[in-house]
Amino acid sequence: MPTTVLPLGTLSDTHGRVARDLRVSLTDRCNLRCSYCMPAEGLPWLPTPDVLTDEEVARLIGVAVGLLGVRKLRFTGGEPLLRHGLADIIAASAGLRTDEGTAPELSLTTNGVGLDKHVHRLVESGLDRVNISLDSLDRQRYAALARRDRLPDVLRGLAAAEAVGLRPIKVNTVVMRGVNEADVVPLAAFCLDRGYGLRFIEHMPLGPEHTWDRSTMVPSAEILAALRTRFVLTPAEQRGSAPAEEWLVAASDDHPAGRIGVIASVTAPFCAACDRTRLTADGQLRTCLFSRTETDLRTPLRDGASDTELARLWLGAHRGKAAGHGIDRPGFRQPARTMSSIGG
Ligand code: SAM
Ligand code: SF4
Repeated sequence: MPTTVLPLGTLSDTHGRVARDLRVSLTDRCNLRCSYCMPAEGLPWLPTPDVLTDEEVARLIGVAVGLLGVRKLRFTGGEPLLRHGLADIIAASAGLRTDEGTAPELSLTTNGVGLDKHVHRLVESGLDRVNISLDSLDRQRYAALARRDRLPDVLRGLAAAEAVGLRPIKVNTVVMRGVNEADVVPLAAFCLDRGYGLRFIEHMPLGPEHTWDRSTMVPSAEILAALRTRFVLTPAEQRGSAPAEEWLVAASDDHPAGRIGVIASVTAPFCAACDRTRLTADGQLRTCLFSRTETDLRTPLRDGASDTELARLWLGAHRGKAAGHGIDRPGFRQPARTMSSIGG
């Protein structure tokens, strides 16, 4: 029987924001090598003893939900389906109760490879939603971008998520100049036809160092212009703390009505409304994707800190959360970890 514990406080910062959404990276490893995220040869993976055990991850999630007012959990990585304990961690999280007395909302961000084999068990364990990354419907372009010929596996994963009744299914697409701009319209048509939510994401400087520059990023304005060549878009309601600016797509003879989002993390950052906190697979707390500092929760956890002591460390770190990522400021330096190791 889940118990409701009164929170110790909420993860508020000096800029008036409260973090309710915890992103948990379960591994830094991946079976793809998307060029915007990882080098072709992979990365020096975290040593196994540094990676939190399933019990340690579940305990820190319990602190966040039970003591710190976190209401949503998203499991990510690296590729979270590679984590053997994923279903057990989801089941432990589903047994928690938020400060509102409900179970936390549980979602997964995955590249979709192998999802067809796992999705039943994940849903039985309590998974509510899934976001699947898909950057091209062209097998050759997909293979070139992900450096692995796995498009058929991803499409099987999407179909399996739909068949098991996960709703809404969301698709994430990073658009890169000269690489997959031609996929914007076909991906939108594919998702509208199937009732999937689609979000285009601006390429951020979080991949291998020195591989990002503004000229290779396709800004949201260009993505929208490409969409308007085929679809009629009107702005949806205000986005609140959601990062995507949403557009309603009018139905036509060849596609149903739907919604498409654009996450303009670089050209129109949503930092002022950010409600996220992040835990890496090796137990480091990050207040922002772009943080250059982290708070070590693993060492105190392993040294016997109580839940309240861990919660106080988390609260203290969040109070100092930066106002914004500053990509546009002179002197911006990308964090030492890539997206795959932070957890996207
Ligand atoms: N492996 C899973 C996947 O690909 O969905 C989860 C982890 S991945 C790091 C999470 C999301 O981050 C994916 O949608 C991916 O496309 C996105 N991503 C990775 N590197 C990025 C970058 N440099 N800029 C923008 N988005 C990025
Ligand atoms: Fe792996 Fe996801 Fe990074 Fe692609 S974006 S390399 S699937 S972690």
